Amino acid sequence: YGDASQKIDYVFKVVLIGDSAVGKSQILARFARNEFSLDSKATIGVEFQTRTLVIQHKSVKAQIWDTAGQERYRAVTSAYYRGAVGAMLVYDITKRQTFEHIPRWLEELRAHADKNIVIILIGNKTDLENLRAVPTEDAKEFAEKEGLFFMETSALEATNVETAFVTVLTEIFNIVN
Ligand code: GDP
Ligand code: MG
Repeated sequence: YGDASQKIDYVFKVVLIGDSAVGKSQILARFARNEFSLDSKATIGVEFQTRTLVIQHKSVKAQIWDTAGQERYRAVTSAYYRGAVGAMLVYDITKRQTFEHIPRWLEELRAHADKNIVIILIGNKTDLENLRAVPTEDAKEFAEKEGLFFMETSALEATNVETAFVTVLTEIFNIVN
């Protein structure tokens, strides 16, 4: 977790997108503060959170943007995407529809963001395996076809959240270096 006194070598803006209630804010809370809340209203209105980590001996400040409840189709403005070098495209593994909306989010992302943006597809809520509605294989296949990284996470259990962010940030780091 970040040390305020350290020198920052890079600042990378990463945006979270995906349908409402898939767990974007809790994924961010887990990554930025190692917190989780069952009350989804807790973080409404927060524009972004930061966490500084070390990648290949350089300090990288990740500035992670969260949609403040603007997940309706086309409600996310282009300002949100401006300057973003990474994107996390999140669906809920227990809600098939949130996965079916992913192509729409991807289209919006590609229309507004830089063409070299690093994108990871995230299937969240793996702790609810008994309610799974999206097979891992379906998402993996889609990600491969679209050239996205892919990971399944649980913000609740803190599974793969760190790995997902580190995957995106390391890839961005490698592109700029
Ligand atoms: P957002 O609208 O995409 O930002 O979703 P939130 O982060 O607000 O989460 C919506 C609801 O799902 C909240 O009740 C969270 O507590 C819950 N939630 C988020 N992540 C997980 C998870 O990994 N597992 C479970 N079981 N619930 C989660
Ligand atoms: Mg939210």
